[in-house]
Amino acid sequence: MRLLFVASAVGPLGTGIAGGVELNLLNLAHALQARGHVVHIVAPAGSRTGEIPLVWQAQGLPPAFAQGETRDSPVILPQPSVLANLWEGARALQNDYDLIVNWGYDWLPLYLTRFFQTPVLHVISMGSLLDHIDSAIAQVLSDCPGTVAVHSQAQAETFVGIENLVILPCGMDLSAYTFCSKPENYLVWIGRIAPEKGLEDALAAAALAKLPLYVLGRLQDPGYFAQIQADNPGAILKYCGFLPTDEMQSVVGKAKALLVTPKWIEAFGNVVVEALACGVPVIAYRRGGPAETVLDAITGFLTPPDDPSALVAAIAKLDTIDRARCRAHAEENYTLSVMTDRFETWFRKLDKSQKPI
Ligand code: UDP
Repeated sequence: MRLLFVASAVGPLGTGIAGGVELNLLNLAHALQARGHVVHIVAPAGSRTGEIPLVWQAQGLPPAFAQGETRDSPVILPQPSVLANLWEGARALQNDYDLIVNWGYDWLPLYLTRFFQTPVLHVISMGSLLDHIDSAIAQVLSDCPGTVAVHSQAQAETFVGIENLVILPCGMDLSAYTFCSKPENYLVWIGRIAPEKGLEDALAAAALAKLPLYVLGRLQDPGYFAQIQADNPGAILKYCGFLPTDEMQSVVGKAKALLVTPKWIEAFGNVVVEALACGVPVIAYRRGGPAETVLDAITGFLTPPDDPSALVAAIAKLDTIDRARCRAHAEENYTLSVMTDRFETWFRKLDKSQKPI
């Protein structure tokens, strides 16, 4: 197959601005290329795509983060629009490809789908946040059934009234993560530092458990970060920045546990699989995708959402978790190879003959 991947408009690939979707897109592109498919990328200018050809770099201003909008927010494209330019690239190049895959969470590509000659598939990496996106997804599915995928059952359920979303869990290249059998005395938290990710609860729990908390990830909201540190003066927080996977996993691997404390319905939570791959137990709120990837009392603990004291109780039971079982769970369920099988099967079903004339 000849595939054109269109990246999220919110930031260049490789910066972490778009979150886990960046790793998913690049990992899948490499894996599909290794299987003999042609994969090219259209992405914001400044993107780093390794050996995958970046065939169009879009200039312009990014859209606002959907997490900061209200449900009835209008569609706003700052001018010049990087999103419009990404899709101008896809339009110009479309005849060279069998499928176009949209990795963004935006109204525009959903709306444009029916005007393309080449089929467009959509990988949606967030739960339902905006009414105009829900309506556009429903329209796309009524035109072309089976062309919209999400990453977990919990994420699919946020799209009320929208049936038949394809569920494709993520997978990681586990060879990039080293198993660590003996932890050091700290906890870890990974993610974009932004209110929906709920770092403050992990910080409160770490302070109560009297353990340092290492924090890794892109600092998206500095005001929020300063506030939660001021609110938790007893916490020992070590901010490591946004690290490349290799450096990230060496810090994560030595942790006693990963805390996952989202305030929103996390679509999947790549960081859960990345921690498990290092043998690190995961203590996660029973909310969204992580509740489907963590096996309670086996690869970590699932706790009632928004309750740091329940996290502390789980931290006290960490000695009952077998770190080798954590790694094995990732190997059995969340390899990049399994993810690639899932996506390859989905792509093959949706060739050009599906497109209504
Ligand atoms: N990440 C990283 N370096 C860091 C911290 C995080 O590369 O220092 C990556 C991590 O590998 C993961 C992504 O950031 O793929 C976060 O994705 P996740 O699905 O957990 O959350 P999202 O940001 O998409 O809500």
